[in-house]
Amino acid sequence: MRFLRAVFQRSQTLLEACLPSHCLLCNLTSQQSLICQYCYDAILAERTYCLHCGCGLITTQNYCGECLQHQFEFQQLHALASYQAPFPQLIKKLKYQNQLLYADLLGLLLADSIKQRFNEQQLQKIDYIIPVPLHIKKLRTRGFNQTQLISEALSQHLSINIAQQMVIRNKFTQAQEGLSRSQRTKNLNNAFSLSEKGRVTLAGKHIVLIDDVVTTGATINSLCQCLLAANVKRVDVWCICRTELN
Ligand SMILES: [Zn+2]
Ligand SMILES: [Zn+2]
Repeated sequence: MRFLRAVFQRSQTLLEACLPSHCLLCNLTSQQSLICQYCYDAILAERTYCLHCGCGLITTQNYCGECLQHQFEFQQLHALASYQAPFPQLIKKLKYQNQLLYADLLGLLLADSIKQRFNEQQLQKIDYIIPVPLHIKKLRTRGFNQTQLISEALSQHLSINIAQQMVIRNKFTQAQEGLSRSQRTKNLNNAFSLSEKGRVTLAGKHIVLIDDVVTTGATINSLCQCLLAANVKRVDVWCICRTELN
């Protein structure tokens, strides 16, 4: 996988040297690779969001109504964008059409939105980023974990190490949609565990979980519980998209 990716990236660079770059979003020729300045500026325009769960807000209050009632186990969730165009399409191309270049694009955009929100000092406090793992069955069918690829791009742009193979996804969980809050929690009980190496390495550390789309937050919350039970000091979440509350 790593080898194929290296070959792919190398041929991409060669191709770029010969041809003018095209923006992956609007398809027009672009000075930069991956994305043109116009699309970049449009995506990184400031959005108003809940400071805890990251969902978009229309008003300028700090927290959404949900978070005033229930708090998640993580401290803060930062999302690049709401789950709306062009993101569902970009994520689909990455996950289901194996267009791995989109992981580089999404990783770059997420990294830059993080640099907009957090200063150098805040970022230096983070010990590791951890991609939300896929169940082994899903990993075998897809051939790659999209959150791992996004994390690799993030790690490069932000110089934060990835904690590899420390979290295990035990359960092949059924879809969370249509389940109540308590059913969801039950469905996800013990969905994750830490490897022996994870237990030793992550205790007392500040971790950021990386996900592509956070919907109800139940999955990520379950992973947070697993980490906090193993004495991880603090858990935050960074994701590409956060779906809106109804
Ligand atoms: Zn463009
Ligand atoms: Zn909220």
